[in-house]
Amino acid sequence: MAVSSSSCGLLIVLVGPSGVGKSTISRALAQQLNVWYTVSVTTRTLRPNDEKGKAYDHVTKEEFFRRLDDDQYLEYAQVYGDYYATPKHPALDHLQAGQDVLLEIDFQGAMQVRFHYPQALLIFIVPPDEGTLLQRLNDRARDSAEEIQKRFRAAKREIHMAKGSHAFDHIVINDNLQHAVEEIEKIIRHKHAGGI
Ligand code: 5GP
Repeated sequence: MAVSSSSCGLLIVLVGPSGVGKSTISRALAQQLNVWYTVSVTTRTLRPNDEKGKAYDHVTKEEFFRRLDDDQYLEYAQVYGDYYATPKHPALDHLQAGQDVLLEIDFQGAMQVRFHYPQALLIFIVPPDEGTLLQRLNDRARDSAEEIQKRFRAAKREIHMAKGSHAFDHIVINDNLQHAVEEIEKIIRHKHAGGI
């Protein structure tokens, strides 16, 4: 489906490494703007502090792949051993109805969106510096030391690729939540006004 006509909503994609603050930024944006925030499907099992992060539709691997075979996803990826996907229809229906749609996904999923929906607004969020990211990964007190190192290495790789790829329309530094949210709001308003 084409999502480029002026009556369509804007497909806004927030991307960034684990621990950069995407969920917090997405929630703040969803409260302040008239955007529809997608609920992703995942094979990841529930975590104790999940209610503080992004809400998911948790499914088995069998169900995940049944839906994939049924062409139900707008994009999907395997991230840290689990599968994640954005359900296609709710997102496209909202876009067609003129509603902006906000996705919070990983780098691989963003590349699929860029390919299939070139008019989407892709924003990559980076930490102010590597030390801050490592601190944030540690502060979440969620992962083992080995898992934190894995995510930290992956984050450095992703940031490097994002800066070199030209696939993203904007790179926003999350040094301060309010500033990052205000900057993204400005980018969205500018895009609605016909800018890049
Ligand atoms: P977590 O399980 O920690 O909430 O998320 C792990 C990673 O999966 C994060 O980078 C998050 O952005 C990404 N992710 C969450 N939902 C989706 C989705 O629907 N599609 C893709 N491609 N990645 C997702």
